[in-house]
Amino acid sequence: MNSQYVVAKFGGTSVANFEAMQRCAAIVHDNPDVRVVVVSASAGVTNHLVTLTQQKVDAAEREALFQSVMTIQQDILACLTLDTDLQAGFNDTKEAFYALAQLPALDAQQCDEMLSFGERFSSYLFTQVLRDLGVTSSRFDVRQVLKTDRQFGKAVPDVAATRDAAMAHLTPQLSEQVVVTQGFIGSDNQGQTTTLGRGGSDYSAALLAEAIAAQSVHIWTDVVGIFSTDPRLCHKARPIARLSFDEAAEMATFGAKVLHPATILPASRSGISVFVGSSRDPHAGGTWIEKNNRSEPGIRAVTQRKNQILLTLKSPEMLLASGFLARIFTILSAHNISVDLVTTSEISVALTLDNAPNATRPELAQACLDELGEFCQVSVENNLTLVAMIGSEIQLRHGEASLMQVLADFNIRLICHGASRHNLCFLVEQGESDAVVQAIHSRLLEAA
Ligand code: ASP
Ligand code: MG
Repeated sequence: MNSQYVVAKFGGTSVANFEAMQRCAAIVHDNPDVRVVVVSASAGVTNHLVTLTQQKVDAAEREALFQSVMTIQQDILACLTLDTDLQAGFNDTKEAFYALAQLPALDAQQCDEMLSFGERFSSYLFTQVLRDLGVTSSRFDVRQVLKTDRQFGKAVPDVAATRDAAMAHLTPQLSEQVVVTQGFIGSDNQGQTTTLGRGGSDYSAALLAEAIAAQSVHIWTDVVGIFSTDPRLCHKARPIARLSFDEAAEMATFGAKVLHPATILPASRSGISVFVGSSRDPHAGGTWIEKNNRSEPGIRAVTQRKNQILLTLKSPEMLLASGFLARIFTILSAHNISVDLVTTSEISVALTLDNAPNATRPELAQACLDELGEFCQVSVENNLTLVAMIGSEIQLRHGEASLMQVLADFNIRLICHGASRHNLCFLVEQGESDAVVQAIHSRLLEAA
């Protein structure tokens, strides 16, 4: 049985400065069911930290980056007086950050340590903002409970260990107070800091919600829910009031940047409702993603994800032979590469990978290309965008000409449809993709 508890997560723009934090604190104050608060790093901080982990940064640049991060924290601190417990922790964290920022080269574990500082700072500051509003609260180090493997930069959570640790250390605190903790970070079985990949705080919130058997997780961001497409691109884009877990998972995976793709997994597995709303406008509604949401057949959204790599692998020797795909995927999996789209012919296979800027690690390592090159011709194309139409029961059926007609206007490099009834995906040149999304939205979503 799930409890009444709600986990509320506030993203980087929601905790960007003191005023933004105050708006979030009011949301927590107004909903007594919120017992766990998960905060991101203030906007911009993680990007600075990612730069600090890069080899080519010299001592002067490191100093400047350290200062840029601290300025963001100090600006918030200037509006607060930290209680002694929080002040002590904040000072220690700052010292540890300074010491690490002195090092010219970091190993993978130290990189994750570096990336963790943004969330750690925010959690001290936000706890004080909550206390100043009269909410009994304490700061909690999520690394005590969010247990992961040791794949630094993109660690995989250990759900059972997380649940056990949460039951022992977190749940007992919740009847008395609100617990403020960090998104994005965790720890391995030796207690070393790990991170879940960029945007991972949403995922943390869902994992914690699962671990404490919460009723729902509220993701507070800077938009009033998940939209039919990016509203900056199409002014007629509309928030979607209800989504099924399947649709939401596809949308998050294929580019609706509002939610980290893995967030839906723990929620749907444990029947936890997910709400996405705007911390600027908490009463403006948002999107509810719930177990019993059924959707009408049809397209509900169009998303895009830029910076895709298309990898084409060809091996004429494979004609009528078996094992080609198995060999390829064994190598990709050994390099922890996650593939999005795949199309195959008898002697070749094309697949897409994400190459997000500012990622915590590069998706496609040269070592992987070399291994693939030992038995097939490898070609790599960049500057592509994956466009996805998402909805329910999407089918290219006889009589449903509109989908095909829309596609006929574009230069499509690759297309995938059929594995799931929830999407139809294709690759286009990056330079054209905004126009493609606008055309699809206006012809298939605005008419409806
Ligand atoms: N601060 C991390 C990032 O910017 C995690 C998050 O905000 O979700 O990627
Ligand atoms: Mg985010």
